[in-house]
Amino acid sequence: MNIDPIAELLVLFICLLAGTSTLAWGLMAYPLGIAPRASGYFSLANLLILIGVLLTTLRDQTSNYLYWFGADMLLLLGFVLLRSGTQRLFRLNSSIRLDGILLLITGLLMLSQPPSIEASDTLGMLFSLMAATTFLLMAKDNLIALEHTVKRHIAVTLLSPIALMGLAFALRALLLALTPSLTNELASIQSADAIPMLWLFVVMTLWINVIMMGNALTRLVQKMRQLADRDYLTGLWNRRAMQQRLEQLHQRWLRDGQAYSLILFDLDYFKQINDKFGHSAGDAVLVRTAKQVGKVTRAMDFFCRLGGEEFLLILPGTDGDEAQIIAQKLQQALRQSSLNWQGSLIPINASFGIVTTTTGDTPDSLLALADKAMYRAKETGRDRYCTAERQPLDRPVTTSR
Ligand code: GH3
Ligand code: MG
Ligand code: MG
Repeated sequence: MNIDPIAELLVLFICLLAGTSTLAWGLMAYPLGIAPRASGYFSLANLLILIGVLLTTLRDQTSNYLYWFGADMLLLLGFVLLRSGTQRLFRLNSSIRLDGILLLITGLLMLSQPPSIEASDTLGMLFSLMAATTFLLMAKDNLIALEHTVKRHIAVTLLSPIALMGLAFALRALLLALTPSLTNELASIQSADAIPMLWLFVVMTLWINVIMMGNALTRLVQKMRQLADRDYLTGLWNRRAMQQRLEQLHQRWLRDGQAYSLILFDLDYFKQINDKFGHSAGDAVLVRTAKQVGKVTRAMDFFCRLGGEEFLLILPGTDGDEAQIIAQKLQQALRQSSLNWQGSLIPINASFGIVTTTTGDTPDSLLALADKAMYRAKETGRDRYCTAERQPLDRPVTTSR
């Protein structure tokens, strides 16, 4: 069959896009090493799509499994790999087994048809059903991954082209099932009738790669934020992130008057742990502390490691009495979490300083007050908490043991 010149140009354009994308993703995977596994999947997916499209153009009147079944399977496998790459990129659970089963069923159903133009509407329908399923599920994966990273409306905007692709394939399947007279427009890619559908494929190849590139960048930004805002040892927020959060909360307090509290604590005799059991034991104690305290905190609390063995808990919407109850819980949690280190039991205790917002406070003054209160807890015997003392209205010191 002779291929229409415009259709041929569009097919070449699709191949150019897929080929360039194969190279670009390949470079991302190696030597750049940016999300190498996911980039590798995307590169391979584009290559399969490229070969699949090329094979499709060779379809003619004679029966040929390579040009029909082989081409369709390569294209569908390419779509499945795009989904796998997305899952890899965002550390989502892999669905390769389910996708593999769906692909196998589609393949078996396709094999029940002769590989020729007579069966092109049925084959096109089966192909479109599988493609629609893959793209719609891929859109769902993207939503899950992006809604924690960007605002929901941005996530929906980013993934909508993938969802539209899914819907376009679903519509194609439906039209092929209902109106076999549209076979030329929908199932063939060689005739002039197929030009609108070929344009859809052009846009699709471009869009998908742009979105995947956007996804890879989002992931990179996510990782960089993680490095910038998290403590490498405990995974807690670091001092930088704490300062931002404290400033935000303080502005909210000035606006809404909703009090908040800080609990600053420092592990007791930590140097002795390092000296006696080694630095690794000290590190393990820090990790255990982060874990135990994390169990006591609420979702809205902000827990960070200020440095060394000093931690800060920011408690939104918490007054002084509630903060003391939380400090007691932290104290209990740490007392009960002695670390078993190579047969020795290392007790974990800390001294706590508590402060709650009062008119005239600034984030820095609150931190200084919490620090002073913590040092009073140290001076008066450790493993206890003290609330901040304010001048000139000296408040009674609360201690607990
Ligand atoms: P106090 O009860 O008065 O708080 O005494 P301390 O021994 O806990 O406090 P000190 O300031 O004397 O010692 C803190 C030690 O913590 C010194 C430092 O080497 C150690 N340190 C700081 N950062 C880390 C870390 O990331 N890992 C380990 N293992 N040790 C650390
Ligand atoms: Mg200490
Ligand atoms: Mg210290």
